[in-house]
Amino acid sequence: MAAYETQTHEYDVVVVGAGGAGLRATLGMAEQGLRTACVTKVFPTRSHTVAAQGGIAASLSNMGPDNWQWHMYDTVKGSDWLGDTDAMEYLAREAPKAVYELDHYGVPFSRTEDGTIYQRPFGGHTTEFGEGPPVQRTCAAADRTGHAILHTLYGQSLKNNAEFFIEYFALDLIITDGRCTGVVCWRLDDGTIHVFNAKMVVLATGGYGRAYFSATSAHTCTGDGGGMVARAGLPLQDMEFVQFHPTGIYGSGCLITEGARGEGGYLTNSEGERFMERYAPTYKDLASRDVVSRCMTMEIREGRGVGEHKDHIFLNLMHLPPETLAERLPGISESAKIFAGVDVTRAPIPVLPTVHYNMGGIPTNYWGEVLNPTEGDPDATFPGLMAVGEAGCASVHGANRLGSNSLIDLVVFGRAAAIRAGQVVDRASSIPSTNPEQVDKALDRFDAIRNASGSTSTAALRDEMQRTMQADAAVFRTDKTLAEGVGKMEAIAAKLDDLQVTDRGLIWNTDLMETLELTNLMPNALATITAAEARKESRGAHAHEDYPERDDANWRKHSLARVEGNKVKLDYRPVHLEPLTKAEDGGIDLKKIAPKKRVY
Ligand SMILES: Cc1cc2nc3c(=O)[nH]c(=O)nc-3n(C[C@H](O)[C@H](O)[C@H](O)COP(=O)(O)OP(=O)(O)OC[C@H]3O[C@@H](n4cnc5c(N)ncnc54)[C@H](O)[C@@H]3O)c2cc1C
Repeated sequence: MAAYETQTHEYDVVVVGAGGAGLRATLGMAEQGLRTACVTKVFPTRSHTVAAQGGIAASLSNMGPDNWQWHMYDTVKGSDWLGDTDAMEYLAREAPKAVYELDHYGVPFSRTEDGTIYQRPFGGHTTEFGEGPPVQRTCAAADRTGHAILHTLYGQSLKNNAEFFIEYFALDLIITDGRCTGVVCWRLDDGTIHVFNAKMVVLATGGYGRAYFSATSAHTCTGDGGGMVARAGLPLQDMEFVQFHPTGIYGSGCLITEGARGEGGYLTNSEGERFMERYAPTYKDLASRDVVSRCMTMEIREGRGVGEHKDHIFLNLMHLPPETLAERLPGISESAKIFAGVDVTRAPIPVLPTVHYNMGGIPTNYWGEVLNPTEGDPDATFPGLMAVGEAGCASVHGANRLGSNSLIDLVVFGRAAAIRAGQVVDRASSIPSTNPEQVDKALDRFDAIRNASGSTSTAALRDEMQRTMQADAAVFRTDKTLAEGVGKMEAIAAKLDDLQVTDRGLIWNTDLMETLELTNLMPNALATITAAEARKESRGAHAHEDYPERDDANWRKHSLARVEGNKVKLDYRPVHLEPLTKAEDGGIDLKKIAPKKRVY
C-alpha cells in the first residue's frame, strides 16, 4: 500500500458538496445539532449553483392565482410522466415553505410594488392544469438567484457551526458491511489525505455536464458523486435524459437564462420568422426546454439557421424596454456583450441548444436516501448514504426538468435530507471506526492514477469522450448513431488504463485532479449513452428518431445502470404512481395527472 500522510475526522454527518443542495443539507443538519462537516473541492460560493440566473419555482401566488396542484401538474407533464408521483407531490407542496425559509435566512429576492416576492413566468409553468395561461411562479433575485442563495446559505451554515473543509477532493466512499461509513479525501493545498468517518454521508456533488463538449455548466461539474457510487457497485438512474438548454451563446456555451424569454424575448430563424408559434401555438417560446431545443435543431437541419454556416438561431430582446433589461436581466446583457459581442438593445443574440442539466443521477426516495433496488424490493435503501441536488435523482424531473425546478429541488430535498437525518442518525451511538481495508483500496486507486504512465493524455481522452457524447448522445438520436456511440464510448473508456499523468506532485496538482475527474465523468457518460441506446421510445429529452412516440406500456420505467469497467449492465424499476396524499385527504386528483400527449 502506498504511504500517505493521513488524518482522521469524526462527524455525525459529512456532506460532500457545497452548492445549493449541499449547503441546504449542511445548514439543516447543523441546525438540529448534528455534528456536520461539509467537504468541497471548490470554495462554496464558487459552486455551479452560483451561475443560476432565472430563479426558483414555488406557487406563492404573488402575481396571480396559483397552487401546489398546478405546480405538480406542470412538473408531472414536464417529466413526460417519468417522475415519481410521491416525490413530485413533495416538491410542489414543500416549495413555498422552502422559499419563505430562504427569504427569512436572508436571500434578497426581487420584490413587487407591495413588497412581496416578485415572480416571473418560465417555460412549462401554467395555470389550470395546463389549460390556462402561463403563470408567474418563478421567484428571482434579479438574474443572480443562485448567487444570492449560495451566499445566504453559506453564511447561515457558518452561523450554525457547520465545519467546512474547503478545497478537499473526495476520492471514494468507505463501505463497511453494506453501509456507507465515510469518505476518503485528498486535501488539494497540502497534499494530505483525510479520512472522514460518519454515520451519514450526503453526496451533493452536482451534475456531469462536462461529459459533453458544449455545456453551460462549470468545469467542476464532473459527476464525481456518480463516479464514487458506480465504483461502490450501486446503480445510476435515468441517465439517458440530458437536458439541452435552448439558449447557450453560440460558440462559448455561456447561458442566456430562460428568464429572457420569460420577460418577452423570442427566437427567430434566417427568415426572421418567430418559428415557435408554428410548433407550440399556445406557449410559443415558453414551451418546455426539450421542445424548444428540438424545434431549433429542426429549423437548423431544414436550412433555416442563421449565420455564415446557418448553424444557429437568434434570440431577440431589442424590443424590450431598457428598464426591463436593466432591472430584470442585467447579467445577461453583460454576458451577451462579453461572449457574443452583442448589445442586446440593438441586435439579436446568436444561440444554440447546449447541454444544461442531468435529469438522471443517484436514485433516491424523497427523503434523499440512496436506493439500491433488489429483485424483491425496488425501493430498498442503502444505509448511511444520501444524495441530493443534481447529483441525485429523486425523481422529480423524470425525462425533462422544467426551468426553475432545479433550485427548488436543491432546497426542498436538501432540507428533506436534513429532516430525515435528524430522525435516523442516532446521536448517542459512536461514530464508525476507520475501515482500513476500504481506505487502502481508495488510496491504492489514487496512487495508481497518480503514477499512471501510459501513452494517452487526460486532455486528449477527455476531448475524445466529449466529442463522442456531443455527436452521438445529443438532441437527435437514432438507433444507428446510438449503437455506434456505445461502441465508441466503450473503446474510449477502455483507454482509462492507458492514461499518462505527468505531474507526480500532491500539492495543487491539477493534472492529477483532472484525471480523477475524468475517471468520474467516464462512468456517467457510459451509463448515459448505453441507457439511451436501450430506450426504444421518445420521452422528454430523449427524442429518438426511429421511435418518435412515447411508449408507456413498455417504457414508463426508470433505467438503472451499473457500470463495471467499460461495460454497463441495465436494469429497470417501476415509476412510483401513488401520491403521498389521497385525493379525499386533500391530495391531487389522480385523473388530473393521468398520462396524455405532451403538447404545449
Ligand atoms: C448556467 C446555469 C444556470 C442555471 N440556472 C438555473 C435557474 O435559474 N433555476 C434553476 O432552477 N436551475 C438552474 N440551473 C440548474 C441548477 O443551477 C443546478 O442544477 C444546481 O445549481 C446544481 O446544484 P448542486 O448543489 O446539485 O451542485 P453544484 O452547485 O454544482 O455544486 C456541486 C458541489 O459539489 C462539490 N464537489 C463536486 N465533486 C466533489 C468532490 N469530488 N469532492 C469534493 N467536493 C466536490 C463542488 O465543490 C460543489 O460545491 C442552472 C444551471 C446552470 C449551469
